[in-house]
Amino acid sequence: MAKRVALSACLAGRNCRYNGELKANPEVIEKLEKSGCEIVLFCPEESCFGTPREAMDLVITDEGVKALTKFSKEDRSAPIAEYAAKFFDENPEIDLFVGKARSPSCGVSTALLYDEGGNLISEREAGIMAAEAKARNIEAVDDEDLSDSVLR
Ligand code: SF4
Repeated sequence: MAKRVALSACLAGRNCRYNGELKANPEVIEKLEKSGCEIVLFCPEESCFGTPREAMDLVITDEGVKALTKFSKEDRSAPIAEYAAKFFDENPEIDLFVGKARSPSCGVSTALLYDEGGNLISEREAGIMAAEAKARNIEAVDDEDLSDSVLR
């Protein structure tokens, strides 16, 4: 049976990135469409903060990993986590999560993590929404790692 796939909306061509630029991934869309997947789009950051918005980073703090805006250092973790929980509660039949690589919200195993001094300490983290997918045992991959075998 074809999979139901949750997909970062920017990959499908929605201009929901922080700066409004397009970042579509036509190869991923082609693969999903060829395999007959049902696609459910999501964008936690646009839903919570609109577009354009200040970019954010994952930062390790005394209170754990937080999503902080790049310059004003506003903690945006909670709204994104709430969006993610609501999305998966409302879409319990999702089989596969495909997130935009390196996004602090959607990156599955490629999100960048900084310390509070701005030093890069990891390039292998999960963004906040991807972490919620993993916590629910939903199979999850970065867009650039989507292979045909994952779609079978
Ligand atoms: S990576 Fe995620 S949060 Fe960022 S624009 Fe794409 S869907 Fe939205």
